[in-house]
Amino acid sequence: MERKLATIRKVNEIKPIENADMIELAIVDGWQCVVKKGEFKPGDLGVYFEIDSYLPIEERYEFLRKSSYKKIPDQLQGQRAEGFRLKTVKLRGQISQGLMLPLDMFPELKTTSPGSDVTESLNVELYEPPVPANLAGQVRGKLPGFLKKTDEERIQNLPEYFENYKNISFECTEKIDGSSMTVYSTEDDQGVCSRNLNLKEDEQNTLWKIAKQLELHKLLKELNKNLALQGEIAGEGIQKNPLKIKGQHLFLFNIWDIEKRQHLTPEERMEIFDSFEKRVPIRHVPVISSEIKVFEKYKTMQELLDFAVGKSLLNKDIGREGIVLKSLESIGREIISFKVISNKYLLKHNA
Ligand code: AMP
Ligand code: MN
Repeated sequence: MERKLATIRKVNEIKPIENADMIELAIVDGWQCVVKKGEFKPGDLGVYFEIDSYLPIEERYEFLRKSSYKKIPDQLQGQRAEGFRLKTVKLRGQISQGLMLPLDMFPELKTTSPGSDVTESLNVELYEPPVPANLAGQVRGKLPGFLKKTDEERIQNLPEYFENYKNISFECTEKIDGSSMTVYSTEDDQGVCSRNLNLKEDEQNTLWKIAKQLELHKLLKELNKNLALQGEIAGEGIQKNPLKIKGQHLFLFNIWDIEKRQHLTPEERMEIFDSFEKRVPIRHVPVISSEIKVFEKYKTMQELLDFAVGKSLLNKDIGREGIVLKSLESIGREIISFKVISNKYLLKHNA
């Protein structure tokens, strides 16, 4: 599922901002964002654009130019080369995330029922920072259909979880701000993928280099199952290496069962990880808690957002990007997972 970046949503609540005459706060699901005073009443519908939205250059968004215009230097084919990028900001001491605009700015929309995904109709894309050449590599093709793209939904879009999953136990790991990598092995193929692409085998490519150093295809073959390892590579030359990691490392966070089309449970993943770790220097994302009833412990969005703020277990001097929670058991057919990003981190790193 592609991320729903622009959706029709209802304003739950309007809150005044002290000493501000022109603006106020709108609460939209788990998000809060600044809106023009008087533009919305509680219960009104609007188009909500999440942070990381990359809006097309259109007259109706020109008011964003000063704060949000962003050009991508060597854009990938098919990707937007310039637009307005939405980030986390602080206005008058208040966190503001995303953009809520009145429906009448979008007369072209055919559906305006709450929850409708209008990302495509409004030509909104996901802003992804350009990937450096040594990571991007030569392309073999798209991410194969038998894999699942690494992605996590933000808790702010899942406010119902607080009620629905009170009794569910989760694994809580640290979220690492690097680049995602998938290594797969099936009976007749093996490969290495970045988040969106299958990469050609290549000496120069960092992802392939790591996969070979760790002999990941060989280790996977020995398990005699069609599996894909998914992890974050982080370290020198990757993003801005915020954790100041020496060298480059893969931190495993998921294992995908290609036949069953399911993630392994955290326990099954750990078992395989432990057996690999005895043979090669593979690492795992730091486990903050292997079992936590997160919605029993943190009862409101704010409490959970506060919990996400903390020091990294990889570098105690630096604040972590956030946390990722994964249910210990499948619910329905799937392991439920989501991310809680530290707002402190977003503000510090201007994201
Ligand atoms: P984002 O980086 O905001 O797009 O969030 C989703 C991405 O976080 C995933 O696609 C992974 O590449 C990455 N990630 C980093 N650490 C973890 C973790 N502990 N568990 C799951 N995903 C992670
Ligand atoms: Mn990331």
